[in-house]
Amino acid sequence: MKKVNVLGVEFDNLTLLEFKKVFLQRIKDQKSTLIVTANPEIVMQANNDAAFMNLIKNDADFITADGIGIVLAGKIQHTPVKERVTGYDMFVWFLKIANEQKKRVYLIGAKAEIASLVDAKLRKEYPDLQIAKVEDGYFKEDLETVAKRIKAAKPDMVFAALGCPRQEQLLAILKKQGVPAIMMGVGGSFDVFSG
Ligand code: UDP
Repeated sequence: MKKVNVLGVEFDNLTLLEFKKVFLQRIKDQKSTLIVTANPEIVMQANNDAAFMNLIKNDADFITADGIGIVLAGKIQHTPVKERVTGYDMFVWFLKIANEQKKRVYLIGAKAEIASLVDAKLRKEYPDLQIAKVEDGYFKEDLETVAKRIKAAKPDMVFAALGCPRQEQLLAILKKQGVPAIMMGVGGSFDVFSG
């Protein structure tokens, strides 16, 4: 089964390894790629917010089962997903690939002190990575303005840690404009990564 529907959200039924293969090809082809790592909160949010459900349906290129709750729901309804694929695992993997391939990354989200810790860690541990910018997620501008700034920086990968649904809303603006980058909302990943 290629897709598994849990409460209206269509999950791509791939293992982490299978996702990685697909994403490597898309990086090579410079395809605009919006990845939503959907945990139970995101699924609930989508069910309570039609605009967010539409965003997931229309703008996301890939939806991964980020959480054991989704894996369990798949099992219970006899349409199992192969495995849990978390945003954090993919975030760290994308950083490794970006470092190997000297790609340009834009990170936005978390508190200012966390963002600067993330910036320092990237410079130390991923020396070949090109950092377009690492900025915190407590900006005053609207999402359109922020999207403009990100697009102008010409990133190959964009990671947004603003919480759901704002991170997905920001990335969907870039996706709609066809920005040729890997784009993924990563929730609390910068907080984890910084520690
Ligand atoms: N965050 C942000 N700006 C905001 C609100 C939250 O950058 O206006 C950051 C927050 O600091 C944290 C991340 O978003 O690093 C994820 O927040 P949360 O854990 O609330 O979201 P979830 O992962 O549950 O979607």
